[in-house]
Amino acid sequence: MTRRNKAITMLSLATILFSCNNGTKTENATSTTNEEVKPVVSHVMTKEEQVKLTPDAVLQEFIEGNKRFQSGVTILRDHSQQARKSAPGQYPKAVVLSCIDSRVPVEDVFDQGLGDVFVGRVAGNFVNEDLLGSMEFACKVAGAKLVLVMGHQHCGAIKGAIDDVKLGNLTVMLSKIKPAVAMSQDFTGEKISKNDEFVKHVSENNVRLAMKNIREKSPILKEMEDKGEIKIVGAFYRLTDGLLEVIK
Ligand SMILES: [Zn+2]
Repeated sequence: MTRRNKAITMLSLATILFSCNNGTKTENATSTTNEEVKPVVSHVMTKEEQVKLTPDAVLQEFIEGNKRFQSGVTILRDHSQQARKSAPGQYPKAVVLSCIDSRVPVEDVFDQGLGDVFVGRVAGNFVNEDLLGSMEFACKVAGAKLVLVMGHQHCGAIKGAIDDVKLGNLTVMLSKIKPAVAMSQDFTGEKISKNDEFVKHVSENNVRLAMKNIREKSPILKEMEDKGEIKIVGAFYRLTDGLLEVIK
């Protein structure tokens, strides 16, 4: 690299660093994307705002956030400011139970910011006592209005359960997903992990089982749902285009 090129590279790097710093540290700053000036949001949920939310409104907001994510036109957020503002207390809208899969970034998928959502993650998004306790805290104590169980396309945990993988602690973990495989034997095509349609079918049944377990094993959440204080919803996330399908 010539001296001149090196100098230009250093200048470009400095410009990038300055731009990033400017975009994330300045409250009420603006950022330019495709020549469109968008405000940077630093607001965080307040208790008053959380109390006014209904479960249906939160679900609708998440569906709209997912549409923004799919289209690539998401809200610009100042995470540094949101971290400071949310530090004294949190008033999230929902609790999402997701797989640990690195391709399913929950806050991004719903275009939500800091303090907006509790996230419980375990490979294969099943419930156990710890996750049920976490959900009860999220809803009964911290005021969340929506419990969303989210499975996803090409889930390795689901494939592992279908293939009856045996490996260390994974063996016991996958046994929690086996009931969904057993429930899916009505599938008419090839029941193997290489068949994407079968993997999807098992993933959806796995979400249905998680919702059933939440209702059966958490009288607290069941009562809140019966009273209309929360909604328990299942969804399937498609990796290929970011689409979220609600599971009936
Ligand atoms: Zn997964």
